[in-house]
Amino acid sequence: MSILNNEQIELKAKEYLEELLAKEEPIKPRDRMKIPPQTMPHQDEFARRHNLDEVALGLTMEQARIEAMRCLQCVKKTCVADCPVQIDIPRFIGYVAEGDMQGAADEIKKVSLLPSICGRVCPQETQCQQNCAVGKGLKDVDKAVTIGRLERFVADWERATGNIRIPEVKPDTGKKVAVVGSGPAGLVVAADVRREGHRVTIFEAFHKLGGVMRYGIPEFRLPNDIIDQEIDTLAKMGVEFRTNYVVGRTRKLMDLINKDGYDAVFIGTGAGLPMFMGIDGENLVGVFSANEYLTRANLMRAFDREHADTPIYNSKNVAVLGGGNVAMDAARMAVRLGAEKVYVVYRRTEKEMPARVEEVAHAKEEGIEFRFLQNAKRIIGDGNGRVKALECLRYELGEPDESGRRRPVVIPDSEFILNVDTVLVSIGNGSNPLISQTTPELNVNKWGNIIVDEKQKTSVDRIYAGGDIVLGAATVILAMGEGRKAAAAINDLLASN
Ligand SMILES: Cc1cc2nc3c(=O)[nH]c(=O)nc-3n(C[C@H](O)[C@H](O)[C@H](O)COP(=O)(O)OP(=O)(O)OC[C@H]3O[C@@H](n4cnc5c(N)ncnc54)[C@H](O)[C@@H]3O)c2cc1C
Repeated sequence: MSILNNEQIELKAKEYLEELLAKEEPIKPRDRMKIPPQTMPHQDEFARRHNLDEVALGLTMEQARIEAMRCLQCVKKTCVADCPVQIDIPRFIGYVAEGDMQGAADEIKKVSLLPSICGRVCPQETQCQQNCAVGKGLKDVDKAVTIGRLERFVADWERATGNIRIPEVKPDTGKKVAVVGSGPAGLVVAADVRREGHRVTIFEAFHKLGGVMRYGIPEFRLPNDIIDQEIDTLAKMGVEFRTNYVVGRTRKLMDLINKDGYDAVFIGTGAGLPMFMGIDGENLVGVFSANEYLTRANLMRAFDREHADTPIYNSKNVAVLGGGNVAMDAARMAVRLGAEKVYVVYRRTEKEMPARVEEVAHAKEEGIEFRFLQNAKRIIGDGNGRVKALECLRYELGEPDESGRRRPVVIPDSEFILNVDTVLVSIGNGSNPLISQTTPELNVNKWGNIIVDEKQKTSVDRIYAGGDIVLGAATVILAMGEGRKAAAAINDLLASN
């Protein structure tokens, strides 16, 4: 099968859309099932290894309409039920099929504040697209209607018009709400609470806003100007921002209520504390948490070796330990930072890998080598404190564990050496204990996650929490969903007193 280049993809879609529109009868469901899934244009797989530009280029207008015509407009909307914020997916897709992009944008924005972000980073294949009737009918989840790409298309279309609608803000109530952390959970709370006319200040520890969307997820997946635009919308709504402000250090959490006069506080501080393997050699020079590596690259612009305040380590052979989205981002960033060989070392098989399918495919295209059923035993130094190699063990899969995934079982005496000068540890993140340690009244579980009730209220009156600090490292859309619930509870609280 020949692979089309981006221009050919565009041309083919134009011709095909004309054919579909020329039909006089409405398209029957069985004919919709025959419409081919649209291929997303991408940046060339060799060129992109040397730049940080976005890899996926987005569907064209014609492709978006064709893809939307694949939707069967089911009566039982499984896609909506599987969407954590319950966008009316068939309805917005119906607008796209008709070419009414503003109608589609308005429909999505009724419930989702960050569609250009969710369209890019949500794990749709395990959410809205998972039970799509088209994918089920074709017996292939990869052939489901690509809801995420359509969401992205609509949001990008609206952005390109330069005419972003700023949500209406009700008259000033005089009430003040503090939001701690500017990740997706905090941004959603800020928008929803501000809409009701309450004053909102976001306190952020870093010098830039956006949380993991800015410092974790690289620009080749989520460009910064998209985050900037979302923040700009909040600023235009009147939300205030205090950066370089570490709650728990710059000011104690309870002082925001007791001394600064905030009527409610939302904690959305995420899960930024990296976990390590606890193996020998993890303190060698050349070992990083994937979080640190990505933060240095994304936030501190460390790839700009001549100008950056903290240039990044110059690596030749890199091993990334882990198989989630963070591992994929770290591996793909290492390629862009000039590594010649990048391995992803994962102790289960590809089937159990938690990373998004699209990211794994992109990583493979970029030359990253996957070492499945292997794991690090120890990191070996060169005698001068620097990484020289990784000693690994081979695994096989045993019985399923409590998560339902088959447990990796070590094969005795299977040690082997992988020659690397850099190791990026990406085996998960825990919650940062700063706020809980300086706020003893706040109940947390054994992992340090804040305990909340069904309305996201913590053990302390007027204090709410949501996102990764409650869920543990999760997803953007789940953080947004929790933010939405917390904002509703805060709005109720402030309406009643
Ligand atoms: C590299 C990487 C890739 C990912 N890829 C995906 C993906 O493809 N799809 C997906 O859905 N999810 C992905 N995730 C997960 C997703 O980004 C998170 O689940 C989500 O950002 C959590 O949102 P949040 O608002 O809870 O917290 P965060 O986004 O973590 O934001 C928390 C903010 O609070 C600030 N903060 C922390 N402590 C304090 C304090 N004491 N005072 C003031 N501010 C503070 C932090 O600096 C940060 O800006 C990824 C995560 C990482 C790390």
